Amino acid sequence: MRVVNPKDYYHPQDRKALRELQQIPGFSAVLKAFMKAFSENMIQGMNMSNKVRITDRQLPELYRLLPPLCETLGIAEPEFYLELNPVANAYTMGDSIISITVTSGLIELMDEKQLTAVIAHECGHIACRHVLYHTMADVVLGAGSAVLGGNLLTAGLQLAFFHWQRCSELSCDRAAAICMDGYETVAEVMALLASGSAELAKRIDMDLYMEQAEEYRDFMNDSGWNKMLQYYALMSQSHPFLSVRALEVREWCGSDLFKSIMDYKYERGSRLVTRKGLCPGCGRETMEEWEFCRYCGHRLRGKEQS
Ligand SMILES: [Zn+2]
Ligand SMILES: [Zn+2]
Repeated sequence: MRVVNPKDYYHPQDRKALRELQQIPGFSAVLKAFMKAFSENMIQGMNMSNKVRITDRQLPELYRLLPPLCETLGIAEPEFYLELNPVANAYTMGDSIISITVTSGLIELMDEKQLTAVIAHECGHIACRHVLYHTMADVVLGAGSAVLGGNLLTAGLQLAFFHWQRCSELSCDRAAAICMDGYETVAEVMALLASGSAELAKRIDMDLYMEQAEEYRDFMNDSGWNKMLQYYALMSQSHPFLSVRALEVREWCGSDLFKSIMDYKYERGSRLVTRKGLCPGCGRETMEEWEFCRYCGHRLRGKEQS
């Protein structure tokens, strides 16, 4: 098996939102204030005092899920912790020392395959180098904002942080789909997290769930006003976003890019994955060998002067 490079699956919206965030006036001031206040020792202390460290000797049945994912995504093995907390959650923190934490609620809720998909998603954050900014976003959007000085944080900056955080999930859902060889388990995880019940999630019709997500996404893209309202809704809760994520990752797994990444991962054929960039016509991802965009027909090459 080969290592899959994040540049081949990084979601275009993730890149765009990150660029927008970095261009907001005041971003660099917040970054500076954060780096001054941020202490990796504090995170380490918190991890060691509140959590159970998962290793090949402590909860080895959980630990063994991690190394193959790190191998596929080409990352160094992070520290791995169990937080005793009934709320189902997983998160990744740090900078030079990175740790993934899963809660006991998550382990109760999910079977091994689903749990693997969640850990793969978290490993995706490491591969995509999201972790420092995510840690910062948690501080900026959470209780820690007082530490940085409330006056540094404009509403625009908070919104941009929030928006990027949401968009970054899309890249990592792709990373999870690459590790799980398809979108199915990743979409299942979304339904599970949204419902909070394994029994109920089994009864949810996934096709209808996706259909609803499609409607929601259309609604979100409709007009500026709707978008605005949706942003505010998203700011206070993330669950509506879960169904859209399920839809996005399912669509992506139907693309040539995903198939080509799978071939590359399993060393079928010798060609490397080549993603050319975004189509100037429709903004979707195109492949190196396309002469015309397969979505909108825009000419991608052949315009060079002879
Ligand atoms: Zn995430
Ligand atoms: Zn196009």
